[in-house]
Amino acid sequence: MDRSRMLRTPAALVEASLIPPERLPALEQVAARYAVSLTQDVAELIDPADPADPIARQFVPDPAELDQQPEESADPIGDDAHSPVEGVVHRYPDRVLLKLVHVCPVYCRFCFRREMVGPGRRRMLSRAALARALDYVRAHEEIWEVILTGGDPLVLSATRLREVMRALAGIAHVKIVRVHTRVPVVAPARITPELVRALKLRGKATYVVLHANHPRELTARARAACARIVDAGIPMLSQSVLLRGVNDDPATLASLMRLLVECRIKPYYLHHGDLAPGTAHLRTTIPQGQALVRALHGRVSGLCQPTYVLDIPGGHGKSPIGPSYLEPVSDGEGGPQFEVEDFHGRRHAYPPAAGG
Ligand code: SF4
Repeated sequence: MDRSRMLRTPAALVEASLIPPERLPALEQVAARYAVSLTQDVAELIDPADPADPIARQFVPDPAELDQQPEESADPIGDDAHSPVEGVVHRYPDRVLLKLVHVCPVYCRFCFRREMVGPGRRRMLSRAALARALDYVRAHEEIWEVILTGGDPLVLSATRLREVMRALAGIAHVKIVRVHTRVPVVAPARITPELVRALKLRGKATYVVLHANHPRELTARARAACARIVDAGIPMLSQSVLLRGVNDDPATLASLMRLLVECRIKPYYLHHGDLAPGTAHLRTTIPQGQALVRALHGRVSGLCQPTYVLDIPGGHGKSPIGPSYLEPVSDGEGGPQFEVEDFHGRRHAYPPAAGG
């Protein structure tokens, strides 16, 4: 099989028998608006006989994407409001995003940057823009961490990636480089020993954050790609997006988080779906998300618990929005009294009554 072959049009999806021909006209309208791309690794995971397949839901276009809701926005997390120079987003004092590329091997139907990524956009930062972005990082000594995101930075060649990583390593106040990627699951063959070597920095720490949303994404090939990264001494974390019809049930979420931990990847964030245009059919409500997180709390090890977060529209950053297990009940003479919920959902007084 030619694993480098990409499926980039609805016609290619019909040819690969992933969608029936009668859906072609409707999906061509979606593809005219939002980029489409599936790798062979992703296409193989789809069961075309299942109309609710959780992998297809993430990557195969859907006519519902053409229904935009009034609260949805082209820049749902407010990147533009915090971009001092092209390619840099400086939202929090001690860290910046560096958006090196505007393309990905796959285009996720729920992507919060769907208006900014895709083949119609500029493929990557020009050398001049990258130099200005690096100058900005050099000039701001409060920047402790640089987060490479995009697009997917691991579509870059090992040579280009090494150049950028070395330039960042040469900035004394930058101690951490974090790389956000979907490549180990959607195109695992790209994680070559050379690419892994390019990620390593002498005297600085690299973290790789894998984006995975369903346990079926962690195929043997994906797990081997992640092992190549972790075996090289690069710690891995994960981020997942809570998606209706993909992972919005406790069993699927628990299985995903356990598999990640088995791969030596610490679950980091579970994102509430952003208000990206045409994605309402993929979002849950926040109470549904909180109930799922509560179910996870009772079901799996603490190692498997991500933080459920919302990126506040307008560029105000992320905040944890998980359920609270602690409630103040009184402010008595002996100090504040609380009720705390255990993993069975039973409530207990804290501090306990004397002799209790
Ligand atoms: S890989 Fe990330 S940036 Fe690319 S389409 Fe998917 S969610 Fe968006």
